[in-house]
Amino acid sequence: MQAQLNASKITNEEKKQNPQAVYQALKYFNDRQSMPEDKFIIQALARSQEDSDYDYLPPPRPVEGLFMPTIRESRESKDLATSASPANPNLRGVPPVPERPEKTKSIYTKPVDEVDSPSPVPFHRPRSGSDSEIQVRQQHGGAAKTTTATKQERREEITKKLQNIVSVSNPYEKYILKDRIGQGASGAVYTALNTVTGVLVAIKQMALEKQPRPELIVNEILVLSRSQHPNIVNYLDSYLVNNELWVVMEYLEGGSLTDLATETCMEEGNIAAICREVLQALEFLHRRGIIHRDIKSDNVLLGMNGEVKITDFGFCACLSPERWKRTTLVGTPYWMAPEVVCRKRYGPEVDIWSLGIMAVEMIDGEPPYMREDPVRALYFIATNGKPKIKEYKRLSRPFRDFLDKCLEVDVSRRPSASDLLQHPFLRMAKPLIMLRTVIEAAKKVIHERRLMGME
Ligand code: ATP
Repeated sequence: MQAQLNASKITNEEKKQNPQAVYQALKYFNDRQSMPEDKFIIQALARSQEDSDYDYLPPPRPVEGLFMPTIRESRESKDLATSASPANPNLRGVPPVPERPEKTKSIYTKPVDEVDSPSPVPFHRPRSGSDSEIQVRQQHGGAAKTTTATKQERREEITKKLQNIVSVSNPYEKYILKDRIGQGASGAVYTALNTVTGVLVAIKQMALEKQPRPELIVNEILVLSRSQHPNIVNYLDSYLVNNELWVVMEYLEGGSLTDLATETCMEEGNIAAICREVLQALEFLHRRGIIHRDIKSDNVLLGMNGEVKITDFGFCACLSPERWKRTTLVGTPYWMAPEVVCRKRYGPEVDIWSLGIMAVEMIDGEPPYMREDPVRALYFIATNGKPKIKEYKRLSRPFRDFLDKCLEVDVSRRPSASDLLQHPFLRMAKPLIMLRTVIEAAKKVIHERRLMGME
């Protein structure tokens, strides 16, 4: 633990000021020790030295009404931006945003406790079986006690669940696999052509035995298949192919919101439009007792006509009257709400905090504390309250108020998704089709950088 503390670069002063927060931040690391995906945090800690070398200056705000989006200049692409400037006056010197590091990957640790209080909150109970955190519940002394089943029992239960969900036909008869478009922690994603309809789809292929927590992928398809909404990536089908689970989804050609946030300086009108769409998805989920728990730009996908859809439901939790609050440290450190980091019982409000952090990504190009190693970032989230936003003073009043509300530390004062859908900031939203230009600009920069061998 001492080595982790040293690597975190938490200062002696910070240790003295809030030893409890230091303990919680380190506990996060320790709770993860037994999990294979620890490699992410270990890599992150190893890289934190490099990352802190950035000499950061805030980017200028984009000019409203400009036709071409403003491009952020990456550290590596300074030359590219300089050479492109005459052709594109908006390609001006914007400070660098680093490549998406491993430390932006999601984590999932053990809950602080396994027994949650009965619900005084009127959440709609999810349909039976929708809570796929595979655990054995026992009645003991009148209280519901949850004990984790053995690994073998869990595997069998997972396979049984999957067999009940997936299609029995051969996917090779229906789809022709094409390009590999993504690689996540759980598997690779390909485009594929539906030979009957001619429609291009996305297929995520996940090797079951390589999953540190296979129950999370059952979670993902159960929730996805039951959550048909215009702002949620549409689940189409799933298959068990040898020992792989294939999840077929609609294909969103625009890529992830991360590309827009890191490559371009986004206008408030576009940010408002994206926040509104994500809030619509959250309102839908929260009404059904589902918390996403991993809202971040990487998990928002875009269509070329301005569709905005959330994805990656592997970490979501389904609330029920028996389990209406959670204590699992889950999500991605930089986007986590203070109540998650402090290991308090938490509810759907954590998604609203993460949405606020995602809005900061769209302003500053990265979440707060991104230059810090994850443990120190957790310390800051636990102690600092609302994070500083570099460009705060340059934002419009409605946007500032929207951010203040999302990033309200007092959970009882943080508004719900339905409350926020009435917020005046969302009235500033530009038509969704306007996102197309920004998506194209981000794609162009990424493409040019690849051509120049910078990635
Ligand atoms: P993580 O490491 O965040 O847990 P994961 O294993 O859950 O990732 P995804 O995030 O679902 O994997 O997918 C990896 C990448 O594949 C995404 O970042 C995205 O670029 C691409 N991708 C996933 N689904 C789609 C889709 N439906 N349409 C287009 N691209 C997609």
